[in-house]
Amino acid sequence: MNAVGIFGGTFDPVHIGHLRSCVELREYLGLEQVHLLPNARPPHRQAPEVTAEHRLAMLNLAIAEEPGLVADDRELRRDGLSYTLDTLQALRQELGSDTSLSLCIGMDSLVNLASWHRWQELADFAHLVVVARPGWQTPESGPVAEWLSNKLLGDAACLKAEPSGRVLVREMTLLPISSTQVRSDLAAGRSVRYLVPDPVLDYIHQHHLYLGK
Ligand code: ATP
Repeated sequence: MNAVGIFGGTFDPVHIGHLRSCVELREYLGLEQVHLLPNARPPHRQAPEVTAEHRLAMLNLAIAEEPGLVADDRELRRDGLSYTLDTLQALRQELGSDTSLSLCIGMDSLVNLASWHRWQELADFAHLVVVARPGWQTPESGPVAEWLSNKLLGDAACLKAEPSGRVLVREMTLLPISSTQVRSDLAAGRSVRYLVPDPVLDYIHQHHLYLGK
């Protein structure tokens, strides 16, 4: 079965932590492609600092040399709030029922999953791959724990046997970097070279982004 992953984020801006995670997940899960999906207006977060066009342009520059990663701008093209469930439904319709689709989220998101719009239906359209930093625990009680109980898998290969419906927890050490750090370094006039790919750095400077308010 073909297998595709989705990695959502604000990407304000994209940095090497995001990119390394996508490459590692793609290899570990045996995915043909990982779709990096910039959020338009994340329901739980402050508005991004630069426009959607800039965030998408930087993402495209960052992955230009890596064919397994694709920028997916569907949430930017949609009006109004972006719910993950709508995105999964749309992707599922495009891919058909014969492709394994895995939504990658952090353990912090899994812990708060019950606050997501129609969260119990997510597994109707995709698997969840939960990236756990060392030390994080899967919820052991409450509605999310109950929902997980018949979905948890131990073996990544099993995700390719079914199109959706399973949850896999993958412990990964993430590079210690965040977009917040990149923005604050830039606003303070410090260098962010090697925290973002060079073409992204050039774009930030050309367009005078993140100079602070
Ligand atoms: P901000 O600092 O603005 O909150 P961020 O660096 O956390 O941004 P996002 O765009 O919010 O980046 O995150 C997109 C996805 O990338 C999320 O699933 C998040 O958990 C993950 N992520 C964030 N930082 C890293 C990192 N250093 N390595 C790998 N993945 C990361």
